[in-house]
Amino acid sequence: MHETSAPPASLRLTVNPDALGANWRALDAMSGAARAGAAVKADCYGLGADKCVPILRDAGCDQFFVAHWSEVAAVMRHVSPEKIAVLHGPLRDADADYAMATGVVPVINSLDQARRWNARSGGRCHLMIDTGINRLGVSPDQLSDPVIQSLSIDTLMSHLASADEDSTMNARQLEAFRACLLLVQHNSASLANSAGIALGPDYAFDLTRPGLALYGGIPRPELEDVIRQVASIEAAIIQTRTISEGESVGYNCTFTADREMRVATVSIGYADGFLRARGPGGLLRHEGRKLPILGKVSMDMIVVDLANAPGLEEGDWLEVPFNLPDVARQSSVSQYELLTTIGRRLRH
Ligand SMILES: *Cc1c(COP(=O)(O)O)cnc(C)c1O
Repeated sequence: MHETSAPPASLRLTVNPDALGANWRALDAMSGAARAGAAVKADCYGLGADKCVPILRDAGCDQFFVAHWSEVAAVMRHVSPEKIAVLHGPLRDADADYAMATGVVPVINSLDQARRWNARSGGRCHLMIDTGINRLGVSPDQLSDPVIQSLSIDTLMSHLASADEDSTMNARQLEAFRACLLLVQHNSASLANSAGIALGPDYAFDLTRPGLALYGGIPRPELEDVIRQVASIEAAIIQTRTISEGESVGYNCTFTADREMRVATVSIGYADGFLRARGPGGLLRHEGRKLPILGKVSMDMIVVDLANAPGLEEGDWLEVPFNLPDVARQSSVSQYELLTTIGRRLRH
């Protein structure tokens, strides 16, 4: 008996490997003397670690950051464990055990985590310092604690709260981070995320940690001409119909036709990450022609107006706009959320 494979899906996500590789190289170049790593948490921001990690590795990246221990295995299929760091750190003894067993590097975020790591291994780790975002990390005044002083710190890190804005917070965090570098032994220092890279060489130190911009996000205007779109999404028409004046479309009848209209039902919905916030004012495209969305986004479907492309039929593929800054502006869903809510059905 042979396994029956599923027929092709009626929606698809395409990752452009050249664009992803070029984005990493561009961010690495913008990092100046520093080298760029890559944030690959959340399954490479929704685009799929199995697709993206090998491309980043082949482009030259050798530091990969995930948030959870559960995300390690997918990355370890493609790169060696000492190049992978877990940002949440060893929250439990089992996390520290797993780090030791695999060789993956924990990011230490608290005195508690430092004690846990010292008690089990005391091997190479990174240290996160909180310089103002008040999320994870030890505070600067904890650096003198013997439990921190006894760590074997490879990269000393901090994270910017407002790098995507021209905020005085950036300079304050930079100054606070610089002061910390004098207080604890380390091999290298790292502060900038994608937006932080665009703040200039002062912020780059030895290692930068871009995420969003690798995958086509543009958090600051300086990156507009540098970053290429990586992901594109298409969905097929699965039914067409003509509705009369006065008929409505979708849940809660939020759209009512004021004339006879030809409309298409398209195979993508909020379960695929096409959130309801993208309905009002949103559109799909076919060869540049705009097809406005009618009514509410359903779980598996949306309905579009075919007035600008009357020849389209069941089986035709439509482009789902995924230029991240444009779609974020149009929909009020952030570029980060547009990527990381991409649904499972699109990733197969
Ligand atoms: C997610 C994350 C990054 C990447 O940030 P982007 O804004 O996506 O570039 C870098 N560093 C840390 C600590 C993170 O949590």
